[in-house]
Amino acid sequence: MALLYTQEQREFIRMVQEFADQTLTPEVVSKYDHLGQCPVELFKPAFDMGLHMLEIPEEYGGAGLPYSTTAMVFSKLAEYDAGYAITLVSTFVALRSVMLAGSADQARRFADIIEPGAFAAFALSESDAGTDAGSVKSTATRDGDDYILTGEKTFITNGSIANVYVGIFRTADTGNKGLSAFMIERSREGISVGAHEDKMGLRLSDTSTVNFDHVRVPASNRLGDEGAGFKVAMNSLNLSRAFVATLAAGIMQRALDESVSYARIRSQFKRPIIRFEAVQEMLADMAIALETSQVLIHNTMTMMDQGNLVRKEGAMTKTYVTDALQRVVTDAVQVFGGYGVSKAYPVEKLMRDSKVFQIFEGTNQIQRVTIANELDKEYAGKEVGR
Ligand SMILES: Cc1cc2nc3c(=O)[nH]c(=O)nc-3n(C[C@H](O)[C@H](O)[C@H](O)COP(=O)(O)OP(=O)(O)OC[C@H]3O[C@@H](n4cnc5c(N)ncnc54)[C@H](O)[C@@H]3O)c2cc1C
Repeated sequence: MALLYTQEQREFIRMVQEFADQTLTPEVVSKYDHLGQCPVELFKPAFDMGLHMLEIPEEYGGAGLPYSTTAMVFSKLAEYDAGYAITLVSTFVALRSVMLAGSADQARRFADIIEPGAFAAFALSESDAGTDAGSVKSTATRDGDDYILTGEKTFITNGSIANVYVGIFRTADTGNKGLSAFMIERSREGISVGAHEDKMGLRLSDTSTVNFDHVRVPASNRLGDEGAGFKVAMNSLNLSRAFVATLAAGIMQRALDESVSYARIRSQFKRPIIRFEAVQEMLADMAIALETSQVLIHNTMTMMDQGNLVRKEGAMTKTYVTDALQRVVTDAVQVFGGYGVSKAYPVEKLMRDSKVFQIFEGTNQIQRVTIANELDKEYAGKEVGR
């Protein structure tokens, strides 16, 4: 993949690598993985470097990098720990969603909160509204110049550490069209966080329930029109899907690095196991999966840089890469043999970290539904025949 890097991209990646070598040492990552806790204090240097604002335009305090470069940087970070990386990705995707859906003033207010060094979260899911995101029950009731927000959001990445949320609430009883989006500052009365999810993987990422109990926000916090909330959510997911794939590719890279290195030094039958065809086949398939994933991600990111919505491409990229990741980490554990399931070796954690990638940002089942629906639209009225 190095051939696709520009000089600027190489420099950013080197900078991130140096930062991660110092901050996310194996001992530190292992400690927080064991605790199942987000290492909030370890984000200060990341904030100082502006890693949460890489793609955000300079006028809002960001670095103004293209999506394609931002993606490569986050992929590198995910090689160290994908939970740490997703904490930053969720923050910048929330701000980017506000920039897409809201006014320049709203984007500035949101940016002013996170730019000095704070987290943000996107709160859509509820206990009964997962894949069926349009069935959100939390309500936003108009009260003069304000809205009163009430409801519980579940499985929210950065839920307990965020200083600001983008939340989707029901303003009318008209299905998807009755949803509206709001920016909600954490300092508002009535917000509380519930239990932090004790997950099998991605344990450095905070996932929590967030409760909104009659939270009053001014109407100027509504993003876009009343009823535009579903669209805001879908546009945000288009972005975050592509970035989730990026993190998955980072885990894949790490799995390949660890597996090839191990296969070269581990000997059985008086020779390194990398000399056995069955092992070679696993390593080669891992490398093919990584290379194809990186090319697919680069293509989607370039399309995003050109202003495309990538509804189908984001779904295809997320599905392909995260499915491929499952095969890669399973084979990585296999290459390590018994040591693969030992916590003393690195691939056990990679396997635990990987599973959720097929689930969040829309499960891979529903991505396939989206892809097929887009194909249906594309082919409507198209004459096929040579
Ligand atoms: C670690 C983590 C972080 C998350 N972060 C966030 C966040 O920051 N913000 C947020 O809003 N949400 C977040 N989520 C929620 C996540 O988006 C949902 O878990 C996901 O959309 C699936 O919803 P569900 O868990 O309710 O599963 P369900 O919707 O109950 O799905 C269960 C199964 O049924 C299948 N299924 C359901 N409907 C269909 C259908 N129509 N066709 C085919 N198959 C179907 C699914 O694919 C799945 O296999 C997070 C989840 C996790 C685990």
